[in-house]
Amino acid sequence: MKVSFHGAAQGVTGSCHLLECGGSKILIDCGLYQGGKELEEENAEPFGFDPAEIDYVLLTHAHLDHCGRLPLLVNQGFKGKIIATAATKELARIVLLDSAHLQEEEALHRARHAGSSRHKDKAPAEALYTTLDALNTLEYFDGTANYGEAMTLAPGLSTTFFDAGHILGSASIFIEHQAGGNSRRIVFSGDLGNAERPLLRAPHIPHHAEVVVMETTYGDRIHKRMDDSIHELYSVITDTFARGGNVIIPTFALERAQELLYFLHKGVADGALPTTMHVFLDSPMAISATQIFERHPEGYAPEIAKIFRGGNDPFMVPNMRFTRESGDSMSINMISGGAVIMAGAGMCTGGRIRHHLQHNLWRNNASIVFVGFASEGTLARRIIDGASSVHLFGEEIVVRANIHTINGFSAHADQPELLAWQKEIRPDMTFLVHGEPDTMAHFATALGSTKVEMPVLHQAYSL
Ligand code: ZN
Repeated sequence: MKVSFHGAAQGVTGSCHLLECGGSKILIDCGLYQGGKELEEENAEPFGFDPAEIDYVLLTHAHLDHCGRLPLLVNQGFKGKIIATAATKELARIVLLDSAHLQEEEALHRARHAGSSRHKDKAPAEALYTTLDALNTLEYFDGTANYGEAMTLAPGLSTTFFDAGHILGSASIFIEHQAGGNSRRIVFSGDLGNAERPLLRAPHIPHHAEVVVMETTYGDRIHKRMDDSIHELYSVITDTFARGGNVIIPTFALERAQELLYFLHKGVADGALPTTMHVFLDSPMAISATQIFERHPEGYAPEIAKIFRGGNDPFMVPNMRFTRESGDSMSINMISGGAVIMAGAGMCTGGRIRHHLQHNLWRNNASIVFVGFASEGTLARRIIDGASSVHLFGEEIVVRANIHTINGFSAHADQPELLAWQKEIRPDMTFLVHGEPDTMAHFATALGSTKVEMPVLHQAYSL
């Protein structure tokens, strides 16, 4: 067994791990690097292995930082099978098509500015991949994983997906290789959910394995209680409305958007939020994702599944508008108060949220609420870190709005949850990935006596 790390090594994006075992080459995730420009340029670098030799991609979940380089893999000769859960397959479709569309738009933008005084020395780079590439990639999704059911990949080699409780369809992946009466087991955590969150079940702990590869996004943190976070969200909304402003929530289209809709739904039902509140979900992808979520009641925690079975939709809020068209999106800019506006991207690196920030950041009666992880180098991180002004669409916008960070909604397990998960699997060897270096170092200390490795990009280990 040999494992090598080709993304999310000493960083939180670009997950891509290669397992060579029993004559098969298996990739666990093939994610996009996201964050600053420098990091995104990594996406065009060679993978560190030959895509044509990969037999399987086992996909943990549909977030872009876990599936976003699949079209590049296919372009560079991948001919194997991509295996995922049914919900991941559906979600990955919209995520990849949206990503391709963004890549095409950015390439157009570069072409328009090539040769201008600001971009003199830059040749207009082609799109990383196109919509056609994304559509081609979907053809390779072959085989649906059901939680807890073993699938044979090759003689003596099997895999089982376990509910990771992170987003709809997310999984931790257990792989077992049996040869000559010996067996070797490895678990890839994928992203692990926060057990307190209401929509999904808590992460299911896979079987014992000798080797664990695990995420450490919040390996140095203890989350605030979920109830406190919900309370905080409700009071930010009511206080902001009392001042006459809007609440802007940069949100990830998958899971976080649906979870927020659920909290707003519950807030109105419980009388904690006004029924007159206007809610805008201004993200075509989040709208499509919400529809996929509505199709998969089997993926939810029992209480949420019950709401669906009772014929109700936990993602419905009175006075809610889904805005797919950009004209409708622009008309939201005219609203100066009384609305909750959710739009992507969560880290404000692109998307419609940047328009809403342009129209609200300078207003002292507005609130901007960050509810997710913001990596270094992103606009979200600059605002959270207290920037007094930011540049948007060539304008310098002064930050006067109230800035809130509510961390309890995290879709990731915190340090105690990660430690408990690892301990149950009882590995001899633990690889830490998907974390910022300081966080990983903290987590490694917390693990105590276990053998721990923090691989760098393309580092390989024989197990
Ligand atoms: Zn994720």
